Amino acid sequence: MTSPFQALPSVERVLSDERVQQLIEAYSRQVVTTLVRSHLDSARKTIAGGGSPPEFDDLVEAVESQATEQWTSWPSHVINATGVILHTNLGRAPLSRESAEAMQRAALGYSDLELDLESGRRGSRQAHISRLVCEVTGAEAAMVVNNNASAVMLGLAAIADGKEVIVSRGEAVEIGGGFRIPDVLVQSGARLVEVGTTNRTYARDFEAAITPDTGAILSVHASNFKVIGFTNAPKLSELVEVGARRNVPVLHDLGSGCLFDTTEYGLAYEPRPQDSVEAGVGLGFFSGDKLLGGPQAGIIIGRKDLVDVVARHPLARAVRIDKLSMAALAATLLHYIREEALDKVPVWRMMAMTAGEIEVRAGKWQRALGEGAAVVEAQSAIGGGSLPGETLPSWCVAVDCTERVGGADGLAKRLRSGDTPVIARIEDERVLLDPRTVPPEEEERLLDMVKQALFGGSNG
Ligand SMILES: *Cc1c(COP(=O)(O)O)cnc(C)c1O
Repeated sequence: MTSPFQALPSVERVLSDERVQQLIEAYSRQVVTTLVRSHLDSARKTIAGGGSPPEFDDLVEAVESQATEQWTSWPSHVINATGVILHTNLGRAPLSRESAEAMQRAALGYSDLELDLESGRRGSRQAHISRLVCEVTGAEAAMVVNNNASAVMLGLAAIADGKEVIVSRGEAVEIGGGFRIPDVLVQSGARLVEVGTTNRTYARDFEAAITPDTGAILSVHASNFKVIGFTNAPKLSELVEVGARRNVPVLHDLGSGCLFDTTEYGLAYEPRPQDSVEAGVGLGFFSGDKLLGGPQAGIIIGRKDLVDVVARHPLARAVRIDKLSMAALAATLLHYIREEALDKVPVWRMMAMTAGEIEVRAGKWQRALGEGAAVVEAQSAIGGGSLPGETLPSWCVAVDCTERVGGADGLAKRLRSGDTPVIARIEDERVLLDPRTVPPEEEERLLDMVKQALFGGSNG
């Protein structure tokens, strides 16, 4: 009687299979051999546990599919038909063409990142970018780090290490992804002093809490939740007044770096960096990849003496921004300086798209998809920790989901697994496709993918 282990092929036998040879050609003998070994090992474990050995072809196919799934470039491009403009799971803000090109330029060759071309001496990677930030925000000084979470952490560590930081009880919140203001304060070495109540806090609460140990007053924008009803929060300018009287700087975490007035789009007011500067905050912090519409970055603006202290802190080096993000950020800021941001920055092109324009595009999609698709009134969300609960009036194509495609969940899954994955949203057992977040140049591909998911073949 032969042992079931003997039914397993040798490593050499698997490696000599033509399909595996092709993998070796595409990748390398070493990684493919390791992969084959690991599959044979787990087959051995299956057998030891009383299972049966895999068929040779199944084994090879398992190796093949793991190789092609694992050793592929990533992330894959997807079409965002959810209507959520800043979708955290989909990488937040898409970049403008110019920003992407700037990134490519910085990536493909050497650059004057830290070289002063005139003197030939070492320069600062912050010099150029901070001038641009100051121009668009009106700030006296600025610096840029790798994201806003680290900007806040660095700011607190540099300004308030070992001291007390006064925060409104309603603002000692979790921003998301485990970023909790009380924890960040602890990590930065500061001590949290909460004042007021969850719904109502006044400037006098802050004033009463100031002691000789106070390092800063921190104001945090509620970017992912809303408190409604019987509420009060002091104006930033009132906090600045209190701080100025007692020589305590006000630090402001704005969350999103929204340079435009969102009320012009029928949305709630989203704090703008310019307004923080105007109010006289010591330091303001915001993200590059929320409503600014640029790459991941954390931008610090404020008084020169305070920015200088932050820049000299050892953590500044630990949260340094990379040259690719820096290049993309500079290009994004230039769009604002040239007053072309509404046309060029994708996030703002989407924000500014009118319901009328969207209805026309939805109509075109509906005709392409035919029966079973209908144009329906809908709302697009902003998302990404900006303007919670606020939506823009929109139109969608609603696709009926039959049993054949597995209902709405089934169709959504088919859309996600197409050659170009399409991410849609589900409402009332129908799959909704929102044109707001689909750039016109992706329209044809989207429709092909939807037809493929619905009818099992491309009609285009
Ligand atoms: C989003 C957000 C952060 C974190 O910013 P990242 O750039 O994602 O690190 C911090 N604070 C507030 C108020 C935010 O909205």
